[in-house]
Parts: sequence; C-alpha cells; structure tokens
Amino acid sequence: MKLQGVELRRVAMPLVSPFRTSFGTQTTRDILLLRAVTTSDRGDAEGWGECVAMSDPLYSSEYVDATADVLRRFLLPELGASADEVDRHGAYAVGSVLHKFKGHRMAKAALEMAVLDAELRTEGRSWARELGAVRDRVPSGVSVGIFDSIPHLLDVVGGYLDAGYVRIKLKIEPGWDVEPVRAVRERFGDDVLLQVDANTAYTLRDARHLARLDAFDLLLIEQPLEEEDVLGHAELARQLSTPVCLDESIVSAQTAAAAISLGACSVINIKPGRVGGYLEAVRIHDLAAAHGLAVWCGGMVETGLGRAANAALGALPGFTLPGDISASDRFYRTDITEPLVIEDGHMAVPSGPGLGVTPILEILDSVTTATEWIPL
Ligand SMILES: [Mg+2]
Repeated sequence: MKLQGVELRRVAMPLVSPFRTSFGTQTTRDILLLRAVTTSDRGDAEGWGECVAMSDPLYSSEYVDATADVLRRFLLPELGASADEVDRHGAYAVGSVLHKFKGHRMAKAALEMAVLDAELRTEGRSWARELGAVRDRVPSGVSVGIFDSIPHLLDVVGGYLDAGYVRIKLKIEPGWDVEPVRAVRERFGDDVLLQVDANTAYTLRDARHLARLDAFDLLLIEQPLEEEDVLGHAELARQLSTPVCLDESIVSAQTAAAAISLGACSVINIKPGRVGGYLEAVRIHDLAAAHGLAVWCGGMVETGLGRAANAALGALPGFTLPGDISASDRFYRTDITEPLVIEDGHMAVPSGPGLGVTPILEILDSVTTATEWIPL
C-alpha cells in the first residue's frame, strides 16, 4: 500500500447547545479531519482520520492549529520518507515511524486512523473486526455539562434518560459537585448509573469535600486532580470509596501501567486521540484487562467518523462500563456522516469496510473552512 498524500480539512460544526466543562465552554467544534489517499494492487482507497484536539490547549496541551502544523512540518514528511515501512506494515508502522517525535499524540492518532481506515477499506475489513470487537452494539452513556441552575440540569438529564441513555455522567467543578449529584439522585433515583468528571479541577486538599460524593453510589469520579498528579490520585483513591478513574493522566500504555502499579486508579477512560491512536488504545485495554481494571471509551465531541470508530473500540471485551458514545444528535443537528443513533440505549457497531461510515460530501463541504493537499 502506497500513501499518495493526505488532505488536511478543517471543519466548523455548530453544537446543538453550549457544552460547559470545568475548563471552558464550547459552542462550535473546530475539527481537523485527514483524508489519506492510498494506492495498492487492489486499487485506490481513501481513509479518514479525525483529530480530537480542541481549538485551545485547555483539555490537554494540544490544539487544532498545532496539530495541523506538526502534521505539515514533521509527521507527514516523516511518513513520506518511510514509505517502504508503510508499504510493508501498513498502519501498524505509523506509530513506530512517528515515535521519535515527542508528544503530539492527537495528531499522530489522526494520521494512524486515516491510514488504517484506507487499509481496511482496501481489504474490505471492518474497524471493529480489526480491533477485536466481540459485540454488535454498545451501551450508550452521555456526558452532561455544567449548568447555571439545578432545575435546568434536571430538565436536561431527564431528556437524556427519556432518550434511553443508560448512564449519566455529570461534569463537575468546585461549587458544582455535591448539590447537582444529590439533586439528580433525588429526582431520578438510585438505579440510574451515575458518574462524575472533574477534568482536573480539584487538588488533594479537596479530598474531604470530594469524599462527600461517596454517599451517592457513583460508578466513579473521573480525573479529579491535575494531569501530572498521579501520586495525588493514588493518595485520593485511598481516601474515597468512590472508584477513581483517570482520563487526562493516561497518555500511553506505559503511563497506564505506572498508574495501575501506584494504585492511582481502578478504572481508565480510554480515548484513542489522547493516547496516540486506536492501536495504543487496544494495548491499554489489554493491559487493564490483565490487571482486572474496568475501562470505558471516552468522547471528544467527535463527528460520525470518530464516533463510529469509538463504538467499535467500545465493543472490545474489557470495555465493561458504558462509554460516552452518544448519538450524533447529542452534539450536532447535522453530522457529516449518516447520523449514528441509539436504540434501546445502545449504538450499533458499524460493520462495513473501514470505519463503516463515510462523510457525505455535500454536508462536509458546507462545514469546511479550509483544505490543504499534501502530497507524499
Ligand atoms: Mg474526562
């Protein structure tokens, strides 16, 4: 398989409603998509990659302009120079070819995703089969942002429960934690699967306050402390009965192994973009399974492309908790692919070649703000 080139395509997708987390509010999703064009003795193919970096470096150090820059300046030229390895090993060569460049995992993940999609479409194999999926559908959870008032929150949560979502995740921050959780429990009862996500908004000094959440039988508390504070999470985990889950801190299988050894988490939120790609995500899944840890698939406000890929990942056997794999209409009135929907609280895992979904050109063009073809 020869890589002819990659198109960088920037899109701006308006959200159905503002999404507020402890690090900021999004109203439009600014996304970098990659279209890899390949040729082989089986014919030409196109593969799609979605970069999950956001406009500003608030979730992590990466941001969209930086991912485009590092792809243009370093990652794509390096991949072009390593054409023989890509030819021999396909997408599995991408991670090792790019390994010498530090960080920039979201950019690397998008490139690997595009190459793997092209490869699988060429061979007629599905993303789910390639990753090791064992289910045809995955339970769908939803991530609920921070609101100005509890009544507004309860309305929104009620809507998601009516829509069939099987698990609710509340974003929290100092000043918006115990009371919203209490209100949701009181209104909707103890049977609702409920968890919280702090996106690094607390410090270890908040341990006693966070322990008040123990009363609400939460599935987990996600990333309460800073990304680099793995030891702090280990200490906090000893002080809480609520299981501690790591998101931002886990950037590779290696950091996952260290966090598990230190007792910093008993659950891991796996986001392929954060860890450098779907292949590394599978390695973390395998590692966690070997240690008896539960994992689930997080979300980064993806389009249908990333959403389809995440559904396939979430169908691996170790994904024992519902992921943030919500329907397209959770975030977008019109998705760039056929919309992914939930039925009975579950999303069907696409089974067609590659990602199993393809952008609809008319829609894609209508949200595209820039394109750039980079021949390799
Ligand atoms: Mg999170």
